[in-house]
Amino acid sequence: MSFRPRLADPSGKAAELYRELPNGRVQCTACARRCQIGEGQVGFCGVRGVVGGRLYLLVYGRVMAGHIDPIEKKPVVHYRPGSKIFSIATSGCSWACSYCQNSDISQLRKIEGIEAAPEELVDDALRYGCDGMAYTYNQPTIFMEYARDVGRVARSKGLFNIFVSNGYDTPETVAMMDDFLDCVTVDFKGSGETGFVRRYISIPDADPIFQSLLEIKRRAKVHIEITDLVIPRVGESLDAAEKLCRFVYDNLGPDTPVHFLRFHPDYKMMDLPWTPVETLERHVAIGRKAGLNYVYVGNVPGHPDESTYCPGCKAILVKRHGYEILGYNLDGKSRCASCGYQTPIVGPLSKSFAEDRFVSVIG
Ligand code: SF4
Repeated sequence: MSFRPRLADPSGKAAELYRELPNGRVQCTACARRCQIGEGQVGFCGVRGVVGGRLYLLVYGRVMAGHIDPIEKKPVVHYRPGSKIFSIATSGCSWACSYCQNSDISQLRKIEGIEAAPEELVDDALRYGCDGMAYTYNQPTIFMEYARDVGRVARSKGLFNIFVSNGYDTPETVAMMDDFLDCVTVDFKGSGETGFVRRYISIPDADPIFQSLLEIKRRAKVHIEITDLVIPRVGESLDAAEKLCRFVYDNLGPDTPVHFLRFHPDYKMMDLPWTPVETLERHVAIGRKAGLNYVYVGNVPGHPDESTYCPGCKAILVKRHGYEILGYNLDGKSRCASCGYQTPIVGPLSKSFAEDRFVSVIG
C-alpha cells in the first residue's frame, strides 16, 4: 500500500519498533504481522510508513476518538471496578475483522484525527475526573510509541493505563509496556479457532496471541482479563472455547476473568443473528468446567452471569447490570463480606462511585 510521504507533517513521528533489512526495506515490529515496508509505503494497518529509509508512526499525536467510559465497558471487571476512564483511539488497525463495530475508525487507512499531545489528553482526562486512560476501539499497539508517551504522562499524574487489545503483539511491543501499562484485556474472537481467524480477521492463526499472553504474564506486572466474542454459526466452536479456557487456566491461572461476549450484526456481517444467550451459557459452562473461577457473559444486560460470585461460599460479590455496578459484597480488601474469601479483585474502588454504594444493595 503506498502513500504520499509527508515529512513536514507535524503529526508524524519516527517510530521505535522497527529494524532495517538487508534488502533495503524496513520491518515493523509493532505487531505479529511484521510487515516489510518499502520506501513511500505503509504497512497493513495504514498508519506506519517508511519515509527516507525510516519508519514513521504517522498518527502520532492524532486521535480519532475520545470518550469517557465506565471501565466495565471494556470489559474489565476485576481491576479498579467502577472507575471512570478516558478512552482514545487513532485510525487504522492490524486486523481486518468483518464484524468490527468500530470499522469507521479501525478500517480507515487514512491519517486523520484531531491533533493532541500526550499532555493535552491527560489534562482532558483529569479535567473530566477520570481514574485512568484506555487505548481502545482500534488496536493500540499499532500506535504503541504514542500510547507509551501518553501512558507515561498519565501514570505520572496518578492515572492508570489499560489496553483493549487483540493481543497480536511481539516481544518487542510487550517490552515497551513495562513502564506504563497497568491492565490489558485481550480480545479473542471465535475463541481463536484457525478457520475463523483466517476467514474473518485475515490472520494466519492465533498463535501470536497465545505467545503474547505468555510474554505479558512472564515480564509485566499487568492485570490480565480475557474476552472471547462468540459469533453464531461461524465462531461458536465449543472445542475452541475449551482449548482457550484450558490455556488460560494452565498459563494465566484460574482467577483470570474470562468474558464470553454476545455478537450483534455489524459492518460486513449483517446477515448473521445475535448470539443466542444459550450459546453463551454453554461457553460459560465450558469455562467453569475447565476450573476457571470467574467466567462472565457479556453484552446481555441483566444476565446473572454479568455478576461476580464468591468461589468460597457462592455469595454474590459484585452485582452488575450492563456496565453499571448495583452493589458490592466485599470488604475494603476485596474479601467476601460473607465468608472472608480473598478475591483477586484489584482495588481500591473508584472515587467515581459514592462510598454509600459499598456493601449496600445486594440482596
Ligand atoms: S503495526 Fe502495522 S505496519 Fe507494523 S507490523 Fe503491524 S500491521 Fe504491519
